[in-house]
Amino acid sequence: NTYKILISACLLGERVRYDAKQKKIDDPLIERWHSQGLLLPVCPEVLGGLTTPRPAAEIQINGSVKTNQDTDVTEAFQRGAEKTLALALKQQIKIVILTERSPSCGSSSIYDGNFSRTIIDGQGVTTKLLRDNGILVFNQFQLEQVQAQLDLL
Ligand code: SF4
Repeated sequence: NTYKILISACLLGERVRYDAKQKKIDDPLIERWHSQGLLLPVCPEVLGGLTTPRPAAEIQINGSVKTNQDTDVTEAFQRGAEKTLALALKQQIKIVILTERSPSCGSSSIYDGNFSRTIIDGQGVTTKLLRDNGILVFNQFQLEQVQAQLDLL
């Protein structure tokens, strides 16, 4: 197989976001990697069993994940992270691009847990698990760095 990069499916335009809105990024690097067959799209939350659309969720101060309707969805988020890791390991993928600020996919910033649109430093559930397993996680604003990593493979 030729997959080298696992990427948040929403960045490729798949309507998997909680609000089912479009989040596709137009970037020549993404287009090139896509046409070279390097990209494997994944949505951890869908893998975890959540439906689209779904209520917004944020990581709480104690590490659990709750929706804006106060439902605890920690298990689904964890399951999605584990399935994403399993996929990366199976495909021997070492580079991942995930959507910044998502409670699953954020890699340097997330929302603070109060559904007040306040952003704090932090990482999503999937990002943490991948990084704990030695996989490099970038966001959609770091594509040059991804190319540099690809060049090292
Ligand atoms: Fe995109 Fe990740 Fe949210 Fe799925 S979990 S919609 S891939 S940001």
